[in-house]
Amino acid sequence: MTNATYEGGCQCGAVRFEAEGAPKFVANCHCRSCRKATGAAFSTWVGFMDEQVRWTNNPPSFHASSPGVRRGFCCHCGAPLTYAGEKWAGETHFLIGAFDDPYVFTPAGEVFTEDALAWALTPKDE
Ligand SMILES: [Zn+2]
Ligand SMILES: [Zn+2]
Repeated sequence: MTNATYEGGCQCGAVRFEAEGAPKFVANCHCRSCRKATGAAFSTWVGFMDEQVRWTNNPPSFHASSPGVRRGFCCHCGAPLTYAGEKWAGETHFLIGAFDDPYVFTPAGEVFTEDALAWALTPKDE
């Protein structure tokens, strides 16, 4: 399990990656910044250490969404892909939809629930 390799990429395939080993966390983020960056009600992030991540085609382009935060996206198809922040130095967080096989990941927690759209919270958080 810990030697698993997870592959993924953007919608058009220009950006491709592999993440090796177990993710550090899988969590739903309900913050406003993620909502603006993705256009989705909330974002499910799968976090890896940078050493676990390899770009196998083009690397993503980056947008600084707030000081110390870099959000990776594909400059060809526009798909949002990653988050890297100074608060979590050395980590690359991937949006779950970027993985070719996202079914293997289940979020274990919810963060920034105070910003959440009420209907987007799972019952256990209420
Ligand atoms: Zn693309
Ligand atoms: Zn967020």
